[in-house]
Amino acid sequence: MSFEVILGQDEALARLTSALANGRLAHALLLAGPEGVGKRMAALEVAKALLCPNGPAKACGACPSCHRVQRGIHPDLFVVEPEPGRTGISIGQVRELSRRVAQSPLEGRRKAALIDPADSMQPAAQNALLKTLEEPPQDTTLILVARDSDLLLPTVRSRCRRVDFKPVSGRVIADFLIGRGTPADTAEVLSRMAGGSFARALQLLAGSRVEDRQRLICLVASQEPPDWKDLAECISPGASGGSSRAAKGSPRERREGTASLLEMLHMLLADCLRVKTGAGIVANFDIENAVKALAGRLTFDELSKLEKVVADGIILLSFNADARLVAGRIATAFSPGRRPVGSS
Ligand SMILES: [Zn+2]
Repeated sequence: MSFEVILGQDEALARLTSALANGRLAHALLLAGPEGVGKRMAALEVAKALLCPNGPAKACGACPSCHRVQRGIHPDLFVVEPEPGRTGISIGQVRELSRRVAQSPLEGRRKAALIDPADSMQPAAQNALLKTLEEPPQDTTLILVARDSDLLLPTVRSRCRRVDFKPVSGRVIADFLIGRGTPADTAEVLSRMAGGSFARALQLLAGSRVEDRQRLICLVASQEPPDWKDLAECISPGASGGSSRAAKGSPRERREGTASLLEMLHMLLADCLRVKTGAGIVANFDIENAVKALAGRLTFDELSKLEKVVADGIILLSFNADARLVAGRIATAFSPGRRPVGSS
C-alpha cells in the first residue's frame, strides 16, 4: 500500500509526500478532517516511510518493516488509542507514550507515534502531551489524527503542522464502490448518503442497509400513515415490545444501526421539504416517486416537525440513548394516535 490508495485527498497527500521527499516533515503533524476520509491510512503511510530502511522519502511497502507498520506491530511505532471500553485516550497512556519516545529506537533510526483520535484526549491528557510536543526527541515524529481539532487545546494545535483532509466527493466514492463490484445505481445512492466518508459508504453497504432503506421508505412513503409497530420495528428491531424479531447485537450496535436508518429518514424528509419549496431532490433521486408521494401527503409544517423529531433522535443516540425508545418515539411522531397500548 502507499499514498496512492488514499482517494480524493490530493492536496493533503501532496503536502505529506513533498515534506517527506524534502526531508522537511514537521516533528508533530495534525491530520484533521471528517471521519472515514483516509486520515489514519495517511498517518500509517507517513509512519511507514519514516521507519522503512529504504525511506524516509518514500516507503518501499514491501519490506518487513513496512508490513509490520501496516499491521500495527512495529516496535518503533507507538499507536495510542482509547483502551477497550473507553471513549478517550487517558493521561496514563500519554505519560507512557512520553516515556517510550524518550528511549532509543529498537530497530531502525527513527520512531513514530500515532495518536488517534487525538481529540478524544481530555485537557489534562493534552497538557501531559505538551512537553513531548515541545521538545520531542530528534528521532521521533508524532502524528495526531483528529476529527474535531477544535477539541484540541490551542497550545497543542500550535505545536503541530496541520494537514487538512476534506470530505471525499460523491463521484470518487461512487467509482470506488463500483470498482468493488457494487451495482452502479446502488453506488450512486450510497455515495450521496455517505456524506463524503468512505467509512460511512462501506458501513451502509455492509449489512442490509440498502434493503433496510427500501423497507423504511415503503413504510413512511405510502399513502396512509405507517403502522406504529411496523415502523418502530423497522427502525429498531424489538422496539415494539413483544416482537417476533429479536433485537440483535449489543446496545451499541443497535444504536449504530438505528442511527444510520434515522440518517436515511432525515435525508428523505430533507428531500421532501426541498420538493415542497421547489428546490428539488438531492439525495433520494432513485426513489423520486416515493419522495413526492410523502411530500404530497404531508404539509410543510408536518414535514418540518418530523424532520426535527428525527434529528433529535440522532442526537439522542449520540448520547447513548436506548435505540428502541428512540425508535418508539419516532414511530409515534409518524403515526400519531396509533401507538398500541402497553408498548414500551
Ligand atoms: Zn519498506
